[in-house]
Formats: sequence, structure tokens, C-alpha cells
Amino acid sequence: DETLLGLCRPGFENDLAAELNFHAAEQMVGGYPRTVPDSGYVLWHSQQGSMAALLGSGLIFARSLSLAEGQFVDIGDDRIAELWPLLKQAAPFSEVFLEHPDTNEGREMQRFLRGFRKALEPRLKKAGLLKPGARQRVHLFFSDSHNGWVTSSPTAVPLVEGGVRRLKLPAEAPSRSALKVEEALIRFFGSTDSLTAKTAVDLGAAPGGWSWQLARRGIKVQAVDHGKLDTRLMDEYPVEHIHGDAFTWRPRSSVDLVVCDVVDKPARTLQQMEKWLTQGWSKAALFNLKLPMKRRFQEAWQLLEKLTAAMERHEHLGVPEIKAAQLYYDREEITVWAAFHRDY
Ligand code: SAM
Repeated sequence: DETLLGLCRPGFENDLAAELNFHAAEQMVGGYPRTVPDSGYVLWHSQQGSMAALLGSGLIFARSLSLAEGQFVDIGDDRIAELWPLLKQAAPFSEVFLEHPDTNEGREMQRFLRGFRKALEPRLKKAGLLKPGARQRVHLFFSDSHNGWVTSSPTAVPLVEGGVRRLKLPAEAPSRSALKVEEALIRFFGSTDSLTAKTAVDLGAAPGGWSWQLARRGIKVQAVDHGKLDTRLMDEYPVEHIHGDAFTWRPRSSVDLVVCDVVDKPARTLQQMEKWLTQGWSKAALFNLKLPMKRRFQEAWQLLEKLTAAMERHEHLGVPEIKAAQLYYDREEITVWAAFHRDY
């Protein structure tokens, strides 16, 4: 018996549950999800086999995944004493995540959790449960201030507390959308310094948040949009504005990266990205897929499978690498990285 706790964007519990069910079936693990609509989390109970292999695998709809040590129910105000047995069971750990659902009620617990941390951490250190270098982290997930789960995850899997990575939007950013590029790089590659591209095309670029993220990293950008680009972006960086159509414009020579944030049918965006990659117009692609209203996991998965298969038919270009996630700054969409890899 094992319980997995997954945090997600509120409203996407069924999508995360569907994703967990899918992976459970693939790994022949028997069990079932428990979801509460709009709660911002999913529990998946396995009765046969283990889902622990999923912890480091980067699911699309999970902002964070951890493995339950145990549940706490209706604990009183001496929380530390009541949680102690579960904390001991999870020890040693090198960090403590105090988590809550990303809902209005959840966020109201933030002040309480800050106070709780001040009381808890010194006690954990003194008792030797909180130890630098330990290979696990412990999560105290409060579904409300008296109920929740103590869970753990390997520190080798990079997670952020509560699954939410808040990023600062610099004043010069042409749009808020710029945060998606930054979050995607951190989520997929661990840092924003990971882009090695020298040239890029931005399809549907206006007002220019994504182009700005690329240009400020020294990438030469061709920005395709009939709309107007931010004037400061155009003044400060060598961005070329192309008044063209995202779905028909072709590059003169191939580029390292194509990005696309056009709001359109996901199948249409995907087909376009598939073309750019398999025709060799670009080595890598970063793009958003608008999610359908229903069966969002299944639809997204089918599109990604289609892209993988198409890329596999072009093995002379490299091995397909595909990563996808619903980012914190994504709403009804997911962000996808797809690239041909040559170092195998
Ligand atoms: N990524 C941009 C940013 O960070 O500022 C925001 C892009 S906005 C969500 C979508 C853009 O796609 C709009 O500026 C729109 O003009 C453009 N667009 C939509 N359909 C297009 C098409 N067929 N060809 C070119 N641009 C298109």
C-alpha cells in the first residue's frame, strides 16, 4: 500500500488523475485516484505495485509529486507533538516543505505556516531529524490547518515548495507571457542558462515577451506577427520584425529554435511545430498547446505521441526529446519542448 500526493492547478484534478491512471496502467500498478474538484491536489492509492518511479519523471499536470508517510486528521493545536511520529518516520531529511493547495483557502494558511516553520525547524534540527546532506525532503501538506499528509521526495528531484515557482516580471518585459519561457527553462532544464541557441524564430510574437526572453540571452530573433512589437524591445535588441503569417511563413535558412505562442487549435499548432522540426527548419521548438475542454490529458498525450512518432520517422535528424508541463504561469494550456538530440 502506497499513496502518492500530486499538487496541480485547481480545476485540473481530473487531468492529473487521468495522467496518473495512464502511467499506473503502463507500469501495471493497481490502484485508484481520489480527487476533490478544485482542491488543487490528487491522491493516488496503489494496492499492488509501486508508483515511486514516477517521482522524478516530470508529469504534465503535476506541479509536485511526493510519497505519503502518513495522513494526519483533526490534529489539535500542539501540532508538532502530534506530527512527530510521522516526521520521525520520514527522517532524516535535508529540507522541510510546508505546503498548501494553491486555492484561496490554501493561501490563507501562509502566515500560519511561516510561524509554524519557526517553531518546527529548530526542534527538528535539535532532534537530528533535519540534517544537511540527507537524500530526502519532507513535505507537510496541509489541506487545511488541522488536516493533511506528511510526504517525502528525493532531493535529487528538483521541486519547489507548494509546486509554485513565483518569478519576477522585470519592468522592461513586453508582456507577462515572458514568464512562461523563464519558467519552462527552469522546469525542463533546471536553469535559465540552458539555452544554447544562437538563432530563433518567434511565431505569433507580439507584443514580444518571448522574443525579449530570447533576445536578452543573446539570441538573434526573427519575430513573425502582423501585430505591433514593443518599441523598447525593438530599440534595444537586434530583433527582426516580420509581418507574416505564423502558419505559412518559411525561414530562409534553418534556425536553432522556433517558439510559438499563437492561440489556435492545438492540433494546428502541433502540426506546424512538427513541420518545422521534421523539415529541418529548426532543431528545437518551444510552444504552447491550448487545452481542449474535456479529456485534456488524453488529448494532449495523443498530440505529443503523434509528434514523437513523426520525429522518430526522421531519425537522421537525431533522437526526439519531448518535455511538457502545465506551468504555473499557464492557464488553459501546456508548454512543450521538443528537440532533436544528437549526443547519444
Ligand atoms: N508570446 C507573445 C508575448 O510573449 O508577448 C504573446 C503572443 S499572443 C498570445 C499571440 C499572438 O499571435 C498575437 O500577437 C497574434 O497577433 C498572433 N497571431 C495569431 N495568429 C497569427 C498568425 N496566423 N500569424 C501570425 N501571428 C498570429
